[in-house]
Amino acid sequence: MAMEAWSKLLGGWDGFELIDVEEHPVGPTQPIPELVLRLRAIPGHPKRCSRCGAEVVAIHDVAERRVRDLAVFDWDTWIVFPRARLECPRCGPTVEAVPWLDRYQRMTTRLAEKVARLTMVLPIRHVAAWFHLHWDTVKQLDRRALHTRLGPITAESLADVRLLVIDDFAIQKGHRYATVIVDLTTKRVLWVHRGQRLRSSASEPTTLPSHSRISGLLTASL
Ligand SMILES: [Zn+2]
Repeated sequence: MAMEAWSKLLGGWDGFELIDVEEHPVGPTQPIPELVLRLRAIPGHPKRCSRCGAEVVAIHDVAERRVRDLAVFDWDTWIVFPRARLECPRCGPTVEAVPWLDRYQRMTTRLAEKVARLTMVLPIRHVAAWFHLHWDTVKQLDRRALHTRLGPITAESLADVRLLVIDDFAIQKGHRYATVIVDLTTKRVLWVHRGQRLRSSASEPTTLPSHSRISGLLTASL
């Protein structure tokens, strides 16, 4: 397939363009089929500081990066691209902003989002096995997505909480449980924990978040 056709099919690497595709089919030393997509920076495309977002002209150096992307069919897909370190006049040495790259993991944002979506319905170890990712990586993505969905829980945001509902519910056909704590007045979910049933957990007092000790709390039910 021609590069332009591949780029159109796969696409989404803002600031970069596809220059080569390497195929590594299953073989004696290749248990999983892999595609390696090599990108280059589009000449003249402005580079921005990853810290302040300002356009920066001065490039300190460029290093090759290898990150995972969504699989193409059943092929694990890797992106190899040059990432520049910039000399930002405001921030000093920084790396360039790459909007399609996940901030903390060595993968694209679209892969990170897909992994996080699947952790909502599947056990973490199954998701990790499916994507050939480390359990810790999937766990971090799941935790971050959960934090994003629930929003930050601060002392100020809990000031008006008076009635809590605490409940366990079965997930994955009863193989696992989750515990949820909800502000009864606003129906806001304050805390979710997957794992053992809270009421059967020997470590119950320490598994509760510290901010569950809310001053002025009237009732908590289990
Ligand atoms: Zn900057």
